[in-house]
Amino acid sequence: MKIICIGLNYVAHIKEFDRDYIPTEPVVFLKPDSAVLPKKNPFVIPVFSNRVEYEVEILVKINKVGKHIDEKFAHKYYDEIGLGIDFTARDLQFELKAKGQPWEKSKGFDGSAVIGEKFISKDEFQDLNNINFRLEKNGEEVQVGNTSLMIFKIDEIITHISKFYTLKKGDIIFTGTPSGVGPVAKDDVLKGYLEKEKLIDIKVK
Ligand code: ZN
Repeated sequence: MKIICIGLNYVAHIKEFDRDYIPTEPVVFLKPDSAVLPKKNPFVIPVFSNRVEYEVEILVKINKVGKHIDEKFAHKYYDEIGLGIDFTARDLQFELKAKGQPWEKSKGFDGSAVIGEKFISKDEFQDLNNINFRLEKNGEEVQVGNTSLMIFKIDEIITHISKFYTLKKGDIIFTGTPSGVGPVAKDDVLKGYLEKEKLIDIKVK
């Protein structure tokens, strides 16, 4: 199983880093399967970072093998939508970027991929391009997203990724974060909601 992530997919998130660069094709990076935070585990802030940030994101679970997937058939490659957090060691990411190195380590470390308690059938959503999701930190809303604001929609993302990587059953796509990313500290509690349903409830240690 691999985890494929899309960066810079919401304009308001790009702007919060004071950038006006809008990508013309999806920005893609991977997390190893060891990045998945085991269910019920707390998230432990890694020793190498002084600034780990949450990024709440809509997830898509791939249901069969595919490559060079045409956009009009992309919907056949997933049945379920989920919610996740792409934890990012922001200080390390900036350091690596400044050196012109891949930012992999800042995004792919152990526990950096939170996958919500369950996936929900896509048939339960009236419109996949109008899904609401949000994240609360210590009871306060910190991120609010809607998939209509994605620069690249799910089907476009699948088409693009599958030009480079064969998609396999069980692969998970993190589709990018809306604005409002911010740091976590010891004892924080993060709760994530996909529409009305709470799918993430984790403690930070
Ligand atoms: Zn992200």
